[in-house]
Amino acid sequence: MRLLCEYLPRTGCLLRLRLELGDEPALIRDEGRRIETVNDGFGFMNERALRQLAHVPRLAIQASSSETARDTNRTIILELIRLAGAVSRADLARLSGLQKSTVSAIVEELLVSRWICEGETGFSRHGRRPLMLGVNNELGVVILDLHPGNAIVAISDFSGRFLAQENVPISSQPHRSITQLLAAIKRVTNAEPKKAIQGVGISVPGRVDPSTGRLAFAPNLKWGPFDIRKAIADGTGLPVEIENAANVIILAERWFGSLSGVQDAVAINVSEGIGTGILAGGHLISGWNGMAGEFGHMRVETPGLLCGCGNRGCWETVASNHAALRYYRKLKGKAPSSFTYRHLLIDAQDQKAEAMAALRYQFVQIARGLQTILAGLSPEVVLFAGDIVAVWPYFSGVLTEEVPKMLNARLPRIITTADYGLARLRGALALVLQHHFSPASSRSVPRRMPVGDPSR
Ligand SMILES: [Zn+2]
Repeated sequence: MRLLCEYLPRTGCLLRLRLELGDEPALIRDEGRRIETVNDGFGFMNERALRQLAHVPRLAIQASSSETARDTNRTIILELIRLAGAVSRADLARLSGLQKSTVSAIVEELLVSRWICEGETGFSRHGRRPLMLGVNNELGVVILDLHPGNAIVAISDFSGRFLAQENVPISSQPHRSITQLLAAIKRVTNAEPKKAIQGVGISVPGRVDPSTGRLAFAPNLKWGPFDIRKAIADGTGLPVEIENAANVIILAERWFGSLSGVQDAVAINVSEGIGTGILAGGHLISGWNGMAGEFGHMRVETPGLLCGCGNRGCWETVASNHAALRYYRKLKGKAPSSFTYRHLLIDAQDQKAEAMAALRYQFVQIARGLQTILAGLSPEVVLFAGDIVAVWPYFSGVLTEEVPKMLNARLPRIITTADYGLARLRGALALVLQHHFSPASSRSVPRRMPVGDPSR
């Protein structure tokens, strides 16, 4: 089950809500009473933006038992409080379409369990000023965003505010790198001593076997089938969620950005390699062994260059940042070893001919693989992420020129993540949040144990 929230562009205001329960279309039940509510009560969030709405679709929920209905309603109220930032009980009743008595009972339960807290008084045109409710921001999450060579270790509250972060060098030796990561986790959590950390979310440049939690395939990280989840869980005593970087980007956009409500999308993360994440029918696809989405390793050249995966001619050998740099060096004849992809992007923005040619080559090669992805998955949205986004306005036209239109078809919406670094951090945060904002978890009580003390 998942509550989908769509936001207004730029303002970030809640536009509409939809609750998915399996594949069934939805309707609302509240203690046996069927409700069909047009949610026109969004005014408290941003009056000016919301006045522009032609209509707001119906909130739709189906519950098969009163127990499920209560869990579902609790999840909706918790999610509405998270989205709103600060909201009164009356607003919650208007937004959810639930009876005021139901809302009050759920709010009391969430206050007692410490998922939310009561803050300042809000505004009322008439009568008593209401007490505003917000997510308990004493609850925190530790985020690890792993890249080949370095990692970002951060701490966030449940509202998605990043409070402290560190850049940590990591190597191809997993045990040594884990020691450095654990030390950094200790430092960022010590910087926020009042936060009760609820879990660790990890974004990895590779695939994770869902059954074992071990790295199934991460040729650029070079850690082999290492169990990062266990190493971090043992070292911190916290529950750990781990996911591929491209999947994490999809999660970030669904929780905090432009993919809210989208059911079929592909994220293409172009960096040292090419990773893709697939959202199909509203579900992230992992495949039986966690390897779904390895389009970077489909063969496009024969025989082609040797790839990090051991094969030759993979898509990422011609379309990754490394490939663009290699092509640049070939054109230029010589370039210093300190010349990186970032330098290439800057040179292209300065309209230097070889840099522009190298990036044009990279976009043409990206289009080759994109064509296969579109034919196979027919996504509604393709979301590009990575440093490549910096030169998007100059070269994205290459994609539409190079990708032939299918039979009837228009091209999907091709967009980019607004902030690549932030998208990975936010996605890793969403990995943890999605467990706490579920019916089963919102019934429990947040943990209070300090980090790094698994014995307690
Ligand atoms: Zn390969």
